[in-house]
Amino acid sequence: MPETLIAANWKMNTTLEEATELVSQMKAGLQAVGGVRTVLCPPFVSLAAVGSAVDGTRIALGAQNMHPEAGGAFTGEVSAAMLAGLCEFVILGHSDRRNLLGEDDAFINRKVVAALGAGLRPILCVGERLDVREAGRADAFVEGQVRAALDGVADLDSLAIAYEPIWAIGTGKAASPQDAQDVMAHIRQTVSSLYGAGEAAGVPILYGGSVTADNVADFIRREDVNGALVGGASLKAGGFVDLVRNAAGAVSG
Ligand code: PEP
Repeated sequence: MPETLIAANWKMNTTLEEATELVSQMKAGLQAVGGVRTVLCPPFVSLAAVGSAVDGTRIALGAQNMHPEAGGAFTGEVSAAMLAGLCEFVILGHSDRRNLLGEDDAFINRKVVAALGAGLRPILCVGERLDVREAGRADAFVEGQVRAALDGVADLDSLAIAYEPIWAIGTGKAASPQDAQDVMAHIRQTVSSLYGAGEAAGVPILYGGSVTADNVADFIRREDVNGALVGGASLKAGGFVDLVRNAAGAVSG
């Protein structure tokens, strides 16, 4: 069984002061929960501060993005080497970046390769638009994203995958747990066809899209759901601690 991961994507929210305050409000509550691993992904400017706040705890740190190149004239970008040593995880291929910033599968593939090469744990995001789902092509679309992102990747190491249907992100309309399970089983099958069943069984696959403290357990109880990537609900300390506690309850129960 893969470990259960609950990753908090704070997106472009929180100043340094607010991020420091948020982590101090949730730290004790998160530490008190066993059985799941929490990953906090603040904006770049707060990585070091949040990292030092969770130092020595089981709470992990992740970045929200990185550039595939090792260095050079990429103004405003951050490389894998800059993140390695600072954080353990990095979110790659989030639909915000695919849709708003034009990142394509080939570019995300280069990021996955660079992140793994630097010893970072990618959280690779995939997910379909509503029209793709309504056309009955969700499985095929997501499979294509997974295959493209892993092109040329010989060893998955500690990669995680987040299935985030675009129509469910930030909308308050989560996928049904069964619909999520169906696509996530297909993702695992895709990974299995590329790397073998043993490797695929060890890959944490997270659901993302309007996850809350109220619905997280219904997702976590599904066979191929090994955690959640949480946006909006990760920005309130009390609600996020409840969410992580409910996820842990679903794992143990
Ligand atoms: C996200 O942005 O990755 C996300 C899942 O957001 P939300 O939980 O707000 O839908």
